[in-house]
Amino acid sequence: MKFTRKEFLKASSLIAGGMILPGSNNFGKIFQQSIGNFKNLRNNLGIYTERGGTIGWYVSDDAVVVVDSQYPDTAKNMLTGLQKKTSRKIDLLFNTHHHVDHTSGNIYLKDFSERIIAQENCKALQEKSYGNDPAKPQAYPTATFKKEWTQEIGKETVSAKFFGAAHTGGDSVVHFQKANVAHVGDLVFNRTYPFIDSNGGGSVANWPVVLERVIDYYPKDTTFIFGHGASDDLVTGSLTDVIAMKDYISALVEFVSNEIKNGKTKEQIASANEIPGFGGLKERWAGARKMNLEKTFDELNSKQSKSN
Ligand SMILES: [Zn+2]
Repeated sequence: MKFTRKEFLKASSLIAGGMILPGSNNFGKIFQQSIGNFKNLRNNLGIYTERGGTIGWYVSDDAVVVVDSQYPDTAKNMLTGLQKKTSRKIDLLFNTHHHVDHTSGNIYLKDFSERIIAQENCKALQEKSYGNDPAKPQAYPTATFKKEWTQEIGKETVSAKFFGAAHTGGDSVVHFQKANVAHVGDLVFNRTYPFIDSNGGGSVANWPVVLERVIDYYPKDTTFIFGHGASDDLVTGSLTDVIAMKDYISALVEFVSNEIKNGKTKEQIASANEIPGFGGLKERWAGARKMNLEKTFDELNSKQSKSN
């Protein structure tokens, strides 16, 4: 069992305050209540955060839709909470992309879900990345799409759309059209350095192009759900945050490209203390900025040597 720092402090302060003694029944109850976090964005639509990518959910009398599944244990916690809102099965479970912190909960949710839907590259990448590992049993999408999936469900219309290679080769955006909430998966790491996955078909150079398409495509007042953020309260936001992410990736590509032109080595480039204009960006794990610089160097460098 893992806790966020906030949950741990909350539980510890209750213990320290003498309200709850370890070993008492209440101690266990408090910890169970501390697992994960449901947050409403609309009456019947919201997010669940615990460990891994943010889960989006929509619950009404005639439709239940879930976007991403984190890990088996946290998917179970999410479903337990969801079942307090509805006795209905999940009609549609979407995966925004194949990464383990967005899809490995599928294995737990599959028996409670009518369909699992993802872009076709997402399914192929999930099979390639985790398919042969018996330690990580997988449940794969049962339906895929190439460019777009749209379905009216209950009073809502849900669409999933592929805009091109960016964070991976199979990212899609899931939009609840009537509520006007879009889950963009890991296309946006809000105010924090992103994970770059060249082996998973991602492209740093194409990422801003994809985000520009996202910015143009959805209504300006869309509420966005992000796979990750610098803190728990930054996993949702507005168009401004999507633009900020596009600006960061553009600045990263421009900076590395210029440094290559200046004759700098990969090591020299990777040791930069900041990407110009983005000095305040948070590292969610040590070495995130260096990894961003190295991956960008590798991608741009291999393109250059191919065109020479
Ligand atoms: Zn990811």
